[in-house]
Amino acid sequence: MDKKAMYKLSYGLFVLTSAFEGRDGGCIINTGIQVTSEPNRISIAVNKSNFTRELVEKSGRFNLSVLSEAADFDTFRHFGFQSGRDVDKFASYAACERSANGLYYITGGTNAFLSGSVEQTIDLGSHILFIAGVDDMEVLSADPSATYAYYQSEIKPKPAQQPATGKTAWRCKVCGYVYEGEELPADFICPLCKHPASDFEKVVI
Ligand code: FE
Repeated sequence: MDKKAMYKLSYGLFVLTSAFEGRDGGCIINTGIQVTSEPNRISIAVNKSNFTRELVEKSGRFNLSVLSEAADFDTFRHFGFQSGRDVDKFASYAACERSANGLYYITGGTNAFLSGSVEQTIDLGSHILFIAGVDDMEVLSADPSATYAYYQSEIKPKPAQQPATGKTAWRCKVCGYVYEGEELPADFICPLCKHPASDFEKVVI
C-alpha cells in the first residue's frame, strides 16, 4: 500500500464562516464539496478544535466562501493561523459583507459563496461532518478557484534563499515555518499555523 495515493486527491480551499449569539468566526477548510444536486446539498468536514466548528454546531448555519487564485497569503494567515477563541477575526477585517442569513462571507480573494443550513451532523472523531442544504449562493468573480496544490506552489511564501548550512531542520508543510534541530519533538505544534508535528518534513538547510 502506498499512502502517497492520498496526496493525489485534489481539494479546494474555503473560508468557512458562522456566528452564534453575536459572536462571528471564520476558518480555512479544504473539505467543501457538493454531495447531491436534487436537492442541492454540500458537505463540510471541520476539525473539532476549530472555534468556527462550535459556531456551526450551535447555529446550524454557515457560509462557505470559495477562495480563488487571487487570494493572497494574508487571507490564509488571517483565517488559518490564529484561533477565533483568541481574536475576533472580523474586528478590523474589511473584505467581508453579510449575506441574507446574517453571516459574513468573504469578498476579497474569493469567487463565490454558498449559504448552508445543516441537515445532518456526523461525529468522525477528529472532525465533524456537516451535510447542509444550500439556501443561497452568489458568484463573486471570474477568477479560477484555488486548489490546495495551487496554494502550495503559488501562494505560500517560498523559504528564504540563504547559503546552505548543512544543518538538519524540520519545515512545516502548511506554512513553511522552519524548526532547526535533528529531531522534532513528537508533541511539537507549529507556532505560526498550529499544525502538529506530522505536518513537518525533514529538510537540510
Ligand atoms: Fe505551520
